[in-house]
Amino acid sequence: MIGPDGQPIDRGREVRIVPPALRHLLDLRDGGCVFAGCDAPPWWCEAHHLIHWAFGGETTLDNTGLLCERHHGKVHAGFRVERDPDGTWHTHRPDGTEILLTRPDLLVSV
Ligand SMILES: [Zn+2]
Repeated sequence: MIGPDGQPIDRGREVRIVPPALRHLLDLRDGGCVFAGCDAPPWWCEAHHLIHWAFGGETTLDNTGLLCERHHGKVHAGFRVERDPDGTWHTHRPDGTEILLTRPDLLVSV
């Protein structure tokens, strides 16, 4: 199934092929949704392929991250999450700008 932007939107297979052992490691590493500002717990989350499997992305710890259902939808609608080698997650809007949560006044006003 292909969405209007040419991206595959069938996520069922993607979720199914993450083996339980890898999912367990993801739960431990990410501890919940990695989308900026989200604190959804692991049990609300799905394993997301950073590079989609349809484009050659592998089902490995390096190429996956936890996203809650809401943010998984956002990422497949143009948002993007990336992980630095040091483990820091970054979230980018569809226009390429990064969502930064460094201002405490923004955090409390949400
Ligand atoms: Zn989330």
